[in-house]
Amino acid sequence: MKDFFIRLKDVPSKGLDVLVNDQSVWTGPILEFKLPYKISVPCESRLNIQVEGDCCILKGYIRGALTIPCDRCLEDAYVSIDSFFKIIEEPKKQDSLDISFILEKDGELYLDLAGLLWEQMVLNIPTKVLCSEDCKGLCPACGANLNKGRCGCRKSAGDPRLEIFRKIKIY
Ligand SMILES: [Zn+2]
Ligand SMILES: [Zn+2]
Repeated sequence: MKDFFIRLKDVPSKGLDVLVNDQSVWTGPILEFKLPYKISVPCESRLNIQVEGDCCILKGYIRGALTIPCDRCLEDAYVSIDSFFKIIEEPKKQDSLDISFILEKDGELYLDLAGLLWEQMVLNIPTKVLCSEDCKGLCPACGANLNKGRCGCRKSAGDPRLEIFRKIKIY
C-alpha cells in the first residue's frame, strides 16, 4: 500500500500515467472496515495525474465489479463499477473537515492514490444495493426469501391498530 503515496514533486510537468490493478488498494479497506463486499471482477484504474502548485488534477476511469448482499433479501447482488472521473484534489485547508488525499510529510506533499481510488469505488456503490429491481425481499414473519416462492405465512395479519375492533363482539 505504501507504494501508492506519490510525491507531488516527482510528477513530471507533462503528467504521470498510472495503471493500478493491485487489488489490495480495494481489498485493504474492505478487510479493514469489515465490509461484506467481495470483488467479483478484478478492479483497475487507469489515470493521468497532473500537478499544479500543491493541487493534483486526476483524470481516468475505474472499472471492476463487486458482490454485495442485497438490501432486501441478503443474497449476493452484483454491482458493476465503471466510471470516469476528473478530480481536482487540494491539500486539506486548516480547520476544514473535508478529507483530502494530499498529505504533508516532512515538508513534502504526497498524493494518497490508494485512498483516492478507494473513495472512487465507494462513490460508485449505490446507497441501496438490490439483487434486482423487483426483489421481493424476506418474509417479515419467517425470514424466507420470497424470491424463491411463497413461504406459507398468512399474507397479512392486518393493521395491528385495528386489532381492538376485531376483539369487539357485536351482538
Ligand atoms: Zn434481493
Ligand atoms: Zn413467511
